[in-house]
Amino acid sequence: MTMIAENIKTVQNRIAQACRQARRPTDAVTLLAVSKTFGADAVEAAFAAGQTAFGENYIQEAVEKIALLRHLPLQWHCIGPVQSNKTRLVAEHFDWVHTVDRLKIAQRLHEQRPLTLLPLQLCIQVNVDGGATKSGVAPQDVLPLAREVAELPRLRLRGLMCIPEPAHDFVAACAVFESARAIFDAVNAAGIALDTLSMGMSADLEAAVASGSTMVRVGGAIFGGRAPRA
Ligand SMILES: *Cc1c(COP(=O)(O)O)cnc(C)c1O
Repeated sequence: MTMIAENIKTVQNRIAQACRQARRPTDAVTLLAVSKTFGADAVEAAFAAGQTAFGENYIQEAVEKIALLRHLPLQWHCIGPVQSNKTRLVAEHFDWVHTVDRLKIAQRLHEQRPLTLLPLQLCIQVNVDGGATKSGVAPQDVLPLAREVAELPRLRLRGLMCIPEPAHDFVAACAVFESARAIFDAVNAAGIALDTLSMGMSADLEAAVASGSTMVRVGGAIFGGRAPRA
């Protein structure tokens, strides 16, 4: 077994254990393998181990990788910041985008999504811990944005995503993730059906699963350490 295959197994076991502790079914949480900075060969090794959903941050890098791997039945998730000048690449090449934080970006993605493709699956990024310079929608603005996005037929609103600051311990991590879960529940209660709560990474996936995450985004624990980006 390759190192990547072993790592995927270990991460799947961590997810399953966290689900059991939270009394959630073990298939309640999807693993998104974050392959940013790693090559097509690493993605192929993960695919050989059964992994089909991959997350990428840097859009140009991702588009090249997606083209190289077109022969495989993979699902590609954009989890990096999306500026206006990159929406076309996202709309044309990805299956999902997790990082929408403005109506203008959603509208461009809608307009640029090719009619030959299924609707682009979308999560709204929420700024759960209130960092002033952080991307993401303020909690009180999530529902109004969700209502607008839900009206755009080339998009399919699936849920919310967050990237909180690393917490000091499990309890503190859960508190932040639970605030995301509360917003998710409120949007659902307002009649906009969401099924995806994208939260949790290599270091904090247990806290995220305990707090209701349905999709964890794991890079380092699968592919190893990343070189710092210049
Ligand atoms: C890089 C990244 C991840 C994966 O982080 P790891 O700590 O390597 O698991 C998850 N989500 C986002 C948005 C990222 O940029």
